[in-house]
Amino acid sequence: MHRVTLHAGREKSLRLKHPWVFSGAIATVDGAPGSGETVELHAADGQFLATAAWSPSSAIRARVWSFDEREAIDDAFIAGRVRASVAARAPMFDAAHTGCRLVHAESDGLPGVIADRYGEVVVVQLLNAGAEAWRDSIVASLVDATGCAAVYERSDAEVRSLEGLPPRTGTAYGVLPQRVSFLEDHLNYGVDVAAGQKTGFFLDQRENRRRIRGLAMGRDVLDCFCYTGGFTVAALAGGAQSVLAIDSSAEALAQARDNVARNGLDDTRCAWRDADVFAELRKLRDSARSFDLIVLDPPKFAPTARHMEKAARAYKDINLLALKLLRPGGLLATFSCSGGMAADLFQKIVAGAALDAAADAAIVGRFSPGADHPIALNFPEGDYLKGLLVRKKA
Ligand code: SAH
Repeated sequence: MHRVTLHAGREKSLRLKHPWVFSGAIATVDGAPGSGETVELHAADGQFLATAAWSPSSAIRARVWSFDEREAIDDAFIAGRVRASVAARAPMFDAAHTGCRLVHAESDGLPGVIADRYGEVVVVQLLNAGAEAWRDSIVASLVDATGCAAVYERSDAEVRSLEGLPPRTGTAYGVLPQRVSFLEDHLNYGVDVAAGQKTGFFLDQRENRRRIRGLAMGRDVLDCFCYTGGFTVAALAGGAQSVLAIDSSAEALAQARDNVARNGLDDTRCAWRDADVFAELRKLRDSARSFDLIVLDPPKFAPTARHMEKAARAYKDINLLALKLLRPGGLLATFSCSGGMAADLFQKIVAGAALDAAADAAIVGRFSPGADHPIALNFPEGDYLKGLLVRKKA
């Protein structure tokens, strides 16, 4: 195995069990490990630190597989990690729930591996060189651990280019059914696993959709960035008087309409806008529209710290407009899924928006992803989704 030695002092994060090694921390590399090959990491004094997957073209040059020197990195190792991840989700499947994230990358000890289950189909994303190198083993292990009918690969995320990996999509096992769907809280959602965003659905908002469902009775709801209607369907199921749902993707809106229909919900209570949320919120303000419950679930504006300033302005803009559209006593559920945006900064931005909107408002709840999206304590980067439930004073 190739031996990689770190500069003196640069082993600190590994001793804290953080799984990443940046290129600048590396002093010497014995030989030339290939993309995704397993290397052995050593401190400057020669002490063993970890085994890791080598990413020759990424700034994150190595990602830890194991801190245990005796553990071999082989098919059995991958199968063990996959099995443990899948087993941890067993309590989350029942008659009302047939969709769940099965593998959440670093936080499940499998850097770069995402797997989401929708009924009998598992969708997998392999996002870095290490995950790519173990593709066959990962797919076989998922089949073995779940007994699923098909595995579909969606390794078409932008981050793969940082690893020098081309996009790759397609059926990796079995036969993909014509239509894929699953149940969340008894609600049926259709998922376009081949062409939808990410793996086809945003499972991380499961518990938050349930919250919104419980708050929706009799309310006029505005669902911004609705995608395939996750929050819209939940709000209608919870008895919302009306829902206005906005997204800039026509395909997502078509699926959203279908999701309302497949649950037998009253689509006359629903209006759809294929539009840019930033512009549409201004139009709604100019036509003096108002709502009792507003959901803001935008895409990640700040993928990394570098995009922070622009992202902060975008978050402030939509939150300010939403707070203006909110009736007295109304609720705003506002989210950020930007890894680069800390929870306290997000709260400050929302506070600034309330100030500028002259809205007297308070935080009455907080949102985070469900238990199928664990955040390993040694990997705070996994803590990307946060949300605030804000109530405007009556
Ligand atoms: N709330 C959704 C997930 C939202 S994902 C759910 O529960 O499933 C973010 C969505 O924002 C995507 O559907 C994307 O098409 C949409 N989007 C991105 N930028 C947009 C913009 N400027 N205006 C409107 N929609 C936008």
